[in-house]
Amino acid sequence: MSAEEAPRWMADEMLGRLARYLRFFGHDVAYARGLADGEIARIAERDGRELLTRDRALARSFSRSILIESPFIGDQLRQVRAARPRAGFRPTFDRCPECNEPLQPWSRGSRVSELDLPRAEVPPPDGPVFVCRRCPRRYWDGSHTRMIRARVETWLSAEAPE
Ligand SMILES: [Zn+2]
Repeated sequence: MSAEEAPRWMADEMLGRLARYLRFFGHDVAYARGLADGEIARIAERDGRELLTRDRALARSFSRSILIESPFIGDQLRQVRAARPRAGFRPTFDRCPECNEPLQPWSRGSRVSELDLPRAEVPPPDGPVFVCRRCPRRYWDGSHTRMIRARVETWLSAEAPE
């Protein structure tokens, strides 16, 4: 993340989409699925994470929290950016959006390819491909990343609603 601060977040269960988008920016985001409030706060404290939550009571119970006000992803991203303007908010696509794992370069014919899940999508014949060592999905620049970049640009340039 170079000169920018690399934030460490924990997102509550209501914020799965926000967690994915922050991971597109390279942020380290743990996603609390199926955990009780007390457990979420305990893990965030233990791992030095700042909590992103839609739950007012949970936000009140943990000092390093941002209470996310809106159910809409654009509003949510603008709120997080307003709270931590020095964190990066451009897609870098260097982290798996599904499991938060930093991506590694993937070379064709490498052993990892044997682990690949069957999928309809085939990587382009040229251009870099990245792999997540945990899931192990593959990622490359294409129509999907263009769509995400365009969405993020629209959302982050829009005026925040009242
Ligand atoms: Zn993954």
